[in-house]
Amino acid sequence: MDEVRQSAYRATANTIIKKLERRNMTGHHCATAAEAVELALELVPHDASVTWGGSVTFGESGVKAALANAGCRMIDRAAATTPEEQEEMWRNQVSADWFFMSTNAITVDGELVNIDGNANRLSLLLHGPKHVCVIAGMNKVVADVESGIKRIRTVSCPLNAARLHTNTPCELTGVCAECHAKGCMCCQEVITRHSRHNDRIHVILVGEQLGF
Ligand code: SF4
Repeated sequence: MDEVRQSAYRATANTIIKKLERRNMTGHHCATAAEAVELALELVPHDASVTWGGSVTFGESGVKAALANAGCRMIDRAAATTPEEQEEMWRNQVSADWFFMSTNAITVDGELVNIDGNANRLSLLLHGPKHVCVIAGMNKVVADVESGIKRIRTVSCPLNAARLHTNTPCELTGVCAECHAKGCMCCQEVITRHSRHNDRIHVILVGEQLGF
């Protein structure tokens, strides 16, 4: 069964990689998270500065630990405790060599579909770090943008709400109510359909279930 699943994932990933190329983004396929770790260690120079945003996948895949062990300068937003430290941390994040994130969804046509509350994660995708690496399990693949938004509302948000205790309807009932709550995670909806900058956005599609 695993062989069947991997064969299907490989075929889908190869199709998406071609679509990403047209969008000036570089796609990669790794059958496992262990392969994604090896690829990340090849892509990222070991003296690079590395930061990340709101990604379960970055830790779960093992990529974060591997880059830290390799000697990369890890810029951890969570380490800032005062407003001054947070401001300094933000400046370091914006000028980082590599920014790692997952994506809430990716379409078979290669569009990245994401939502954000504070938008610090998405602002770093849009502008700032020299390179962005999106690591996405094949569970994030959807047919189109509309399906991506549906996935976010029905899968990503209830799980992230339970993780972060947002006190939003999707935490309390498990169902989206198109809220305007204080802890709303859907303040911005961002579709990345093209990258203007060569070699900036890499997408690693992993043949496993990763993140939400
Ligand atoms: S709009 Fe509100 S209720 Fe709906 S998924 Fe987003 S945060 Fe949850």
